[in-house]
Order: sequence, then structure tokens, then C-alpha cells
Amino acid sequence: MPSEIAPRIAIVGAGPAGLYCADGLSRNLPEARIDVFDRLFAPFGLVRYGVAPDHQGTKAVTRLLDRLIAKGNPRFLGQVTLGRDVALDELRRHYHAVVLATGCAVDRRLGVPGEDLPGVIGSGAFSRWYNSHPDGGTCPAELGAVRRAAVIGNGNVAIDVARLLAKSSAEMAASDLTEGPRAAFAACPVEEIVVVGRRGPVEANFTTAELAELGRLARAMPVVEADDLPTEIGEAGGDRRTKEANLATLRGFVDVPVKPVRIRFLFHRAPIAFEGSSHLSAIRLRRADGGEESLPVDLAVTCIGYRGEAIDGAPFDAERGIVPNVEGRVAPGLYVAGWAARGPSGVIPTNRTDGMSLAGRIAADIAALPAPADDGDLFDRLRERGVAVVTYDDWHRHDLAEIATAPQGAPRRKSPVLLR
Ligand code: NAP
Repeated sequence: MPSEIAPRIAIVGAGPAGLYCADGLSRNLPEARIDVFDRLFAPFGLVRYGVAPDHQGTKAVTRLLDRLIAKGNPRFLGQVTLGRDVALDELRRHYHAVVLATGCAVDRRLGVPGEDLPGVIGSGAFSRWYNSHPDGGTCPAELGAVRRAAVIGNGNVAIDVARLLAKSSAEMAASDLTEGPRAAFAACPVEEIVVVGRRGPVEANFTTAELAELGRLARAMPVVEADDLPTEIGEAGGDRRTKEANLATLRGFVDVPVKPVRIRFLFHRAPIAFEGSSHLSAIRLRRADGGEESLPVDLAVTCIGYRGEAIDGAPFDAERGIVPNVEGRVAPGLYVAGWAARGPSGVIPTNRTDGMSLAGRIAADIAALPAPADDGDLFDRLRERGVAVVTYDDWHRHDLAEIATAPQGAPRRKSPVLLR
């Protein structure tokens, strides 16, 4: 090690990719000082703000991640925005290595006419609202008159959105939805949710557990046309076992008992325009046979993936919306993890594996990396210039306050601002 000081590593982004990398680093390099920055006051990224509010089991991973940062190293530095409060160059002057784990926060667009009509929203904007994200604001669409909604895309986000629109208030009682979204979903008079896929059921990206859950809802039934389901999965790429299990699950949906709300799967339909004068009234769809049809709807939620944003001082692949890298390596001393590295794919355990293996590569590289030019503590520098850094203790107080004020049956009462 050319440096006299113990390794210092900064991770930008306290979501699963960043925190699992921090976990791996603290195991591989127990002497290292690891600082995890996040632009939000709360850690856990998509686990807190992306995982659906009724999937509390999935959110349980925050307990492990919380324990990791509770020890003070890795150290959580919340409410610090890269590019505003600290530049990437400054981080690189303070640390041997910097890991970008900033995710993919921007909704991808379909790029078809009418996409900006009121009533057409992206799943990112929708989930930031219903997950009480600090940038979530008010609901991006008026849900009070929605009788038929379209959910565009055949991934797990599409399933989340369809399920949240379909569930009854009682089914949401144990969720962490706050009063506003809870009331808005409860008052939504939805009768039909159409899940629109541009390809077929075999090509869908659903995981089977998420798909099967739609068959167990209290007031909603999945609707699938038997003719849409092939008898064999053919040559489709991907995980054959999941595809077979998905097909079997969809077959099981053909004869489910009738319930008041329908979740209808419409395959082989690509949206080519959103129609309406002052508000969305229909989606123009192109069928696989080349024909077109119009689907009248009051709401369309596009669930077609996300992209990252360029970071000053780091390369950017504008087409894919990621930081280009080779196994997480961007440049000497600069790394990228999670969705910012590979795009918006994979589940939480995927980020665990990725974060852990990147940590191993950083540990292998660290001895050859030059010592930081500035050996001062960036936390002090940030405080000196008035950045209101949120510490783990601040976060912990907030966390306890959310739990203490939880409505009956709910795990917490999420607040979009830090409770002091
Ligand atoms: P996804 O799995 O990549 O699905 C995106 C869907 O959008 C695909 O069906 C894709 O179709 C479609 N699409 C893309 N561009 C389109 C276009 N121009 N026109 C029409 N359709 C288009 O992404 P996601 O659902 O956003 O999920 C992101 C990641 O988070 C995934 O890895 C997912 O598994 C994970 N996640 C997991 C859970 C869970 O475990 N419970 C919950 C939510 C999300 P093509 O396949 O034809 O491109």
C-alpha cells in the first residue's frame, strides 16, 4: 500500500447495491474506513422507496442492512447530493476508491405520441408517490375516476402496480402506505386493469411468485385467454424453469372464480399512441399481426424500466443510461455497482451477489491505488460548509418515530421529511 493511511472507500448510494458492497468491503478490508453517502435522509434506496408497500417481507432485509451501518463503520452520511454538496472529484481526492451505486431513477419513455397527456404516468413517478419518497409529491394522476387502467410492460413492476390498484383497503392494512396514497387507492373505482405486453407470455419477465399472487387477491381476478397461452415454451431465452412455471400459473388463471375487479392480460400489443384531447382516453395498440386497435382507458402506467443519469466526472452510456464498466471497474479508483452498472434488472439478492463480488475486486485492487490527496475527514468538511449531513443516529431516531406512530396494524408511518 503506497499510503500511510488505512484504505478509505466512499460509496455513493445507500441502496442494496451500495450497502451490500459496503458489507463485502468491511469483511474483505476490516481496517478500511467506509463512508456511504446518500442524497436522501433515509438509507436503503429501493428497498424503502421501490419495493411495494404491501411486500413488507421483502423489506425485512432493511433490518440486516440497518445493523451494518449502526456500527458506525460503514458510516452513513445522508442528505448529501453528489454534484451539489460534493463533487465526484472531491470524493476522489478524499478516498482511495469511490463506488457509484446511484441506481436508475428516471422512468424510460415509450417515445410515442400523447405520452405527456394527463393520465399517462411512469411507474417511477407513481411509486415515488405511493412510497412517500421525499420527491414523491402528490399523485401524478387523478385516481378518483379511474374505471379502467392499463399497465404497460410485462415485468414485476407491472405486477406491483396492477396488484396495488386491485387490492382492497383491508388487504393494504398491513402495508406502509401513508394516509394520502391509502385514501387515494381506496377511493379508486377501478373495475379493470389491463396488463399490456408487447410480446407473449413466454417472453414476460414476471417472477412466478409475483404472478401467482394475482390469483389470491380478495376482490380481483386475473383474466387470461386460453388461446394466448402456447402449449410449449419453444426457443425463448432466459430461465426455462421460470417460464414453464409462469405458463402453468397463467393456465391456472383461465378458470378462476369471478370477482368484481379484473386484471386482464393482453399480450402481443405494442402501444403506438396515447389518445385524448385534454386527458388520456385510449391507447392505440399495434398487434403482432400488424393490425391496430384502440383500448379505452382512464389511466396508463408505463412499467418499461428505468435509466440512470449522467454524473459529472464519470463516463456515461447515454443509450443504456448506465456508467460503462468492466465488472464494476470504471477507471483506477472508480467503480460502479448495481443498476447504475448493469441497468434496471435483477432482484435484491442479485445486488447482494454483485455488491459482494465487486467488494472482492476492490479489495484486490486497493494496494495499487494511490493514497488520497486530502486525508481530512469529508464529514467535517461538509458540516463546515453548512451541509446538513444526516448521521446514522439521526436516521435511527427518525426510524423509531415512524414505528412509534404507525397506524393500527401497519409497520410504520412513513414520513417524507426527517423527523428530528
Ligand atoms: P423489466 O422486468 O425489465 O420489465 C420491463 C417490461 O417493459 C418488459 O416486459 C419489456 O418488454 C417492457 N418494455 C420495455 N420497453 C418497452 C416498449 N418500448 N414498449 C412496450 N413494452 C416495453 O423491468 P421492471 O418490471 O421495471 O423491473 C425492474 C427490475 O426490478 C426487474 O429485475 C424486476 O424483477 C425487479 N423487481 C422485482 C420485484 C420483486 O421481486 N417483487 C418487484 C419489482 C421489480 P420486453 O421484454 O419486450 O423488452
